[in-house]
Amino acid sequence: MSLEVPPSAQPHCAVHPDVLAGGTCSRCGAFVCADCVRFPLGSERVFCVACSKRPEVDYLEAFRLEHWGRRDSWAWTVGMLTLSLLLGVFLSLASGGAPSRKEWLFSALYLASVPVGGAFFLGRPWARPALVVTPLVLALGAGVLEPAQRIHHLLSALPFMFVAVLIHRDVRNRLFFRQPVTPGALAAMWNRLRNNPIARQAFHFGLSGLLMPLLSPLAVVCGVVGLFRVKPQAHPPIGRRGQALAGIVLGVLGPLLWMLVLLPYLDQHFGLVRKD
Ligand SMILES: [Zn+2]
Ligand SMILES: [Zn+2]
Repeated sequence: MSLEVPPSAQPHCAVHPDVLAGGTCSRCGAFVCADCVRFPLGSERVFCVACSKRPEVDYLEAFRLEHWGRRDSWAWTVGMLTLSLLLGVFLSLASGGAPSRKEWLFSALYLASVPVGGAFFLGRPWARPALVVTPLVLALGAGVLEPAQRIHHLLSALPFMFVAVLIHRDVRNRLFFRQPVTPGALAAMWNRLRNNPIARQAFHFGLSGLLMPLLSPLAVVCGVVGLFRVKPQAHPPIGRRGQALAGIVLGVLGPLLWMLVLLPYLDQHFGLVRKD
């Protein structure tokens, strides 16, 4: 724009017509005022409010859409467990002689959880809370059938209830059920899955390598690869330089420690190692 612009024709914000614009959105070209301009994390461009929420601009939004309604590993786990429960009940009924009345009742009790597991696998919203209460309901039902074993049944249900609560709170599983998640939870999940996971792996290999030196070369390799992936200026920014470096250092230190500590020990006690 090289033409002279009279003051009355100066650009105004597309959203606030009485406020002068300070710039334009780099995606749609709309005029934006100081209140409307957005600087997305990791991007050097500026956007209007609407464009800043678009998947190609907001990587967390793109990440959310990627997992929205997509079956996660918890859903697969619940589905497979339900299937094995179903098979187990039928096999135990089919094997041996005629089932007793108690065996029939227990089978019916366990089969009652099959619709919950099936609906969970299919992503039906009601199955999310139902999965949390199912172990408790089964334990209470088993307690009614076997009053002497009531405490035992309740205690056996505890680990299942604990896992069910973990599943209920899992961000990725919430996305499979198309449940809203907070931006913080989404950012944490992105950080765990997408922010240079190989650098984090290098750090873990490096630490484990202090006890298991066979892992040390892996730590060095992952550390070098992770280090090359670090790009703080990229959109989205890729970090974990520190973990990549720590992985390399630990990966070198691990075998050194073993050579300095273990080999002299072997030498001293068994005389197995080189004589200087
Ligand atoms: Zn825009
Ligand atoms: Zn505005």
